[in-house]
Amino acid sequence: MARDRTGDPAGEEAKEAISEKRDTCNSYPLYSSPLLQAMARVEKGRVKIDTSGPLSSLPLIRSALQMFDGQLPALADEERLCLSTWIPPVPSRAFSRLADSRVRSLLGWRTPNQVTISITEECPNRCAHCALPNSGNRLRLTAETVKDIIGQVLDMGTTLIIFDGGEPALYRELPELVADVGDRAISTLFTSGAGFTASLAARLKEAGLYAVNVSLDSPIEEEHDLMRGREGVFSEAMEAVRFALQAGLLVDLYVVLRRENMIHFERFHDLARRIGAHELTLFEVVSTGRWSDRRNIALTPDDHARLDEFVRNAREPKIFSVPEAYRRFGCFAATSWMHVTPAGEVYPCSCYPESWGSIFEEPVRKIWRRMGAFPYKKSKVCPMRK
Ligand code: SF4
Repeated sequence: MARDRTGDPAGEEAKEAISEKRDTCNSYPLYSSPLLQAMARVEKGRVKIDTSGPLSSLPLIRSALQMFDGQLPALADEERLCLSTWIPPVPSRAFSRLADSRVRSLLGWRTPNQVTISITEECPNRCAHCALPNSGNRLRLTAETVKDIIGQVLDMGTTLIIFDGGEPALYRELPELVADVGDRAISTLFTSGAGFTASLAARLKEAGLYAVNVSLDSPIEEEHDLMRGREGVFSEAMEAVRFALQAGLLVDLYVVLRRENMIHFERFHDLARRIGAHELTLFEVVSTGRWSDRRNIALTPDDHARLDEFVRNAREPKIFSVPEAYRRFGCFAATSWMHVTPAGEVYPCSCYPESWGSIFEEPVRKIWRRMGAFPYKKSKVCPMRK
């Protein structure tokens, strides 16, 4: 019989601390210019947004801000408001840059706000659904190359750099890379938990890492390990959460929903709450990588309706529903997201395996400009969904 061995690895302390810190009456400045002023505050645990100025009535501005109005924050304390583990804290230099780029986008400017860099394809797992199956060539970008990419994209306006893999926790120079990001952007780490030790968590925090996205396919240990092709991955994920919280990092539990694991979405949320995660991100499966030939795995309209209803009424922790964000803003690929593979190829997003150029042959800015011709920008239906 399958065991639900979720336990309480992060402990009650972390949960209580998070809960207390979410209830504050501070005001946080989101944006300030003669044309638009926006402030956020947290009342009874929910974010309230106040706006003024001539631009505040524009539908695009209203829609962007409404996304957070009435929502739970990932964290709020005396100094900062973290609307999400995917968004720089308020106030911060990175958040100001993001707000500026959002306003510039109204004038048609495209900025790669979010850049995922698959620094290595090395990974001990054999995930059934891997978006980046190991080529067997042990591909990895050198630390100098990654730093060069980081420098280039920061100059282009990027405010979120996600270190991805393979398993990026196994990349020896990871703390160096995180430190290289500085304060113009936040950095996060996508991990299965393999190689994510207490000592690494402390070094990453010290280097400036903002959050860790721990990926999970099932709240049930045996199911998760089966999907990941190796025993012990679930335990490593739970340990990674514990180490990250101990180190003072934000934690996001990242779940790719498909028809088969939809039955668990309430349990995912319950698990996120019990282990003290700050956020639960729900992404909808895409037919890519090892699953590029799989059909009928995406959620049904009924699944979406049930999910929306659950997200609307859920209590802590915060849920970031990516399907809802796509419905609101359309596909992010080549609009605000760009992905770099361990071979140095640049994709519109990590799920759309089409190279628009190589970082070894031309500046990233040039590739990004060319990507402006990507035909599915802001599409309401994922072009990879079958
Ligand atoms: S192609 Fe667009 S909708 Fe599909 S996964 Fe990428 S960003 Fe999301």
